[in-house]
Amino acid sequence: MKSYFDCVVIGAGVAGMTAAIYLKRYNINILLLEKAAYGGQINQTLAIENYPGFSIIDGPTLSENIYSQIKALEIPYQYGNVIDIKKHQNDFIITTEEEEIKCKSIILATGRNPRKLELEHENELIGRGISWCATCDGMFYKNKEVIVVGGGNSALEEAYYLSSICTKVTIIHRRNQFRADEMIQEKINQKSNIETIYDSQVTNLNITDGLLTSVEITNGKTNITQTIPTSALFIYIGFTPDINYLKNLEIKTNNGYIVVDQTMKTSVDGLFACGDMIDKDVYQIVTATGEASIAATSVKNYCQGI
Ligand code: NAP
Repeated sequence: MKSYFDCVVIGAGVAGMTAAIYLKRYNINILLLEKAAYGGQINQTLAIENYPGFSIIDGPTLSENIYSQIKALEIPYQYGNVIDIKKHQNDFIITTEEEEIKCKSIILATGRNPRKLELEHENELIGRGISWCATCDGMFYKNKEVIVVGGGNSALEEAYYLSSICTKVTIIHRRNQFRADEMIQEKINQKSNIETIYDSQVTNLNITDGLLTSVEITNGKTNITQTIPTSALFIYIGFTPDINYLKNLEIKTNNGYIVVDQTMKTSVDGLFACGDMIDKDVYQIVTATGEASIAATSVKNYCQGI
């Protein structure tokens, strides 16, 4: 087992990195763990226009900027895919695929994963027509026709981005009204190569030679099904936190999201959470960083017995 930490921050997205910066500046002995690339979800965001201090910045650059603060502060950062956490007396034992780590407190900041449509062939078509990341995969479909599913900010922002690369973008939305911000809706309305089909759900994925070639959509009001040829289907129907690794802790959740109080404390003593995995109303970068600073301050108080 590795040396003992006052706090382990799990997840090096915007929330986790911010918490780590605050903790280090509070002189707390910490470790920052991440199972993939630092930055998390913002790495897939092309343009952020609502983060104070930047009129526009792309996600990977913002992530790189925050990570440079982690490096400058010499915050211990390492790869670790957490598979289990147990509480032993007043300490936690974190089990990753490689090792066990003991600590006094934890900040969970593992975000959430994009939801799937749960259709037949969806998984086998990943990289063969199905994608959850227009920024990563959009260029593969340059000058082709693509479909975006969803009616939130993610769906509309990515549809707008794809419309500059693809000849046509069709948005399929299950209701007759988007939930995305007015501003992006107006931008979408001004694009002549974006078409929207409301009240419809994708009900089938059709494959030719291992690639997605068309989708069937069904109108929920008329029950009429139609087939739309497409080179790609970009899915933006929300997210769900992956909290499987917390199965051995009695942690309170709501709809799969972790319930915290105003100090970011979960129902387990010494365990705090922030960012997109917590139960809240606003899922923004600015809220994630704010919650992270609160979680770090709560950990400082917890470690000092306040
Ligand atoms: P979201 O707001 O939860 O929207 C998900 C969309 O998918 C909704 O339109 C929903 O339809 C639809 N949907 C859900 N399940 C579905 C299913 N099984 N089949 C078909 N459609 C389904 O998710 P999001 O757009 O990813 O945004 C997540 C959060 O991040 C939001 O708080 C959003 O404001 C924020 N965000 C902000 C920005 C920004 O400020 N620039 C950018 C991206 C995301 P209904 O509308 O019918 O429920």
